[in-house]
Amino acid sequence: MVETEAPGRAGPVAIGVEDVGRGDLDTGEKGATLVDAVGPDVSLPSDQDATGRSFGADELDALAEVLRSGVLTTTRGTQARRLERTVASMCNREHAVACASGTAAVAAALAALDLEPGDEVVTGPITDMGAVAPILAHGLIPVFADTDPGTGMVTPETVAAVLGERTRALIVTHLFGNPAPVADLRALADRHRLDLVEDCAQAWGARRGGVPVGGTGDLACFSLQQGKHVTCGEGGVVVVADPGRARRVRVWVDKGWPYGEPDPDHEFLAPNARMSELQAAVANAQLGRLDTIVAARRATVAALFEALADVAGLRPVVVAPGAEPSWWRVPLLVDRRVVPGGPDALAAALAPLGIPAAPRYIRRPAFACRLFTERRTFGRSAWPFTLARPEALDHDPARFQGTYAFLERVLVLPWNERYEPRHVEVVAAALARAVAEAAR
Ligand SMILES: *Cc1c(COP(=O)(O)O)cnc(C)c1O
Repeated sequence: MVETEAPGRAGPVAIGVEDVGRGDLDTGEKGATLVDAVGPDVSLPSDQDATGRSFGADELDALAEVLRSGVLTTTRGTQARRLERTVASMCNREHAVACASGTAAVAAALAALDLEPGDEVVTGPITDMGAVAPILAHGLIPVFADTDPGTGMVTPETVAAVLGERTRALIVTHLFGNPAPVADLRALADRHRLDLVEDCAQAWGARRGGVPVGGTGDLACFSLQQGKHVTCGEGGVVVVADPGRARRVRVWVDKGWPYGEPDPDHEFLAPNARMSELQAAVANAQLGRLDTIVAARRATVAALFEALADVAGLRPVVVAPGAEPSWWRVPLLVDRRVVPGGPDALAAALAPLGIPAAPRYIRRPAFACRLFTERRTFGRSAWPFTLARPEALDHDPARFQGTYAFLERVLVLPWNERYEPRHVEVVAAALARAVAEAAR
């Protein structure tokens, strides 16, 4: 996760929680405050508390219904089943399985493929670790493809460059809600008989070429964690095209136990990665708001981009023709010819203005984390790295020029659906001022 801690003092409650009718959902935590002359004293809504989340009577009613029913487990309840139908149909797919987190969703998707230890899964190094750790946990080797310096996402060319004898699958992240080139990746995967997994955790509601994210891959993963477009605190959903694999995902999520089938047995090694009905109830209510949430994000981000059009040295990441991003956060590219200190200098200039920003997003590519550099997996075994071809673990920066170029110029602004035109104005003004300062 990106640090979105806002420096500066907490201001007055500029925006309250949506009228929830009853209860006291307001956490009292406030967003950042713009402290000086950039604009009026405005607190930015934060996705870490009520100011930037959209909870209301629908969520409370759904929760109350579950509690009254006394059925809090998804093995017997109706909420998770409903959530699964909704997310599957959003992706024009037949099957989906709810689970405990986005990370669990990626792990479940890989479990569905039933691969052999040492098999390789190609993915991009700019993503949440929740999309990478499950590869190793399954005894598989994450092989990183370089990314497009304009988007931070893998391309058919960068993926093709790292395919090998043991490549079995490709996981592509739709980064920041900007949809990846999945149609071309699908064609590549088909040519090489690979499974394609879409990581849609950051891209609820995004489309490309009219196709919703999650509608192209063999499997697709979603997260319902606090900071995503829709949330129930923690949660995930796996969308599955093939019915046999859908069964395997469901069995994996439930300790290898085919709940409800005649003559069940523990079929294979698996955790309990189930969601609860309470989570599913909130997630269902949240999905009822998804269109509104995505529309609001699109409108305010479009306004921000328009306001930034005159600011030399800053531009949005590249959005492909036909792509309809749903903007999880706002990734901007900083031109170091204008701002020599790059995103770090810009973030430093924004901080005193009360505008939180994450320079270089995850700061370093996934393969540069200790998990990889020290191979910290199971005790001192370094397994499954020990199974890998040396080339599969070649993380020489020269092979990742697009990735480093992207990370060295990306500045990520937290964003959410509660941003209003006045917040956009304040952020745009602060950015213009910070660029002017950092350019000096
Ligand atoms: C958030 C996220 C995950 C992990 O989801 P959790 O619910 O936090 O486990 C996986 N992939 C991406 C791209 C994410 O943004």
